[in-house]
Amino acid sequence: MSKVFTVEVNGLLCKGCGICSEICPRGALVMDGVNSETGYPNPKIVGECVGCKLCMWFCPDQAIVVIKKG
Ligand code: SF4
Ligand code: SF4
Repeated sequence: MSKVFTVEVNGLLCKGCGICSEICPRGALVMDGVNSETGYPNPKIVGECVGCKLCMWFCPDQAIVVIKKG
């Protein structure tokens, strides 16, 4: 079954705080690697996003958005 939701991160806004990764109830985000443009680590989706939008609401920099595919 294809995944219905995903997230997009604005690498220029993300400050690498990790709140999104901590708050995700599915453990779908990991702080994986350094953004070469800003030097901050950015979250990467590695698990199943269920579209709850907690990451989006709690991001202090409005750097992450949840997208419904299709
Ligand atoms: S909560 Fe926002 S600023 Fe913090 S790591 Fe996640 S996307 Fe980046
Ligand atoms: S929308 Fe919810 S399930 Fe998806 S990555 Fe964000 S916190 Fe995790």
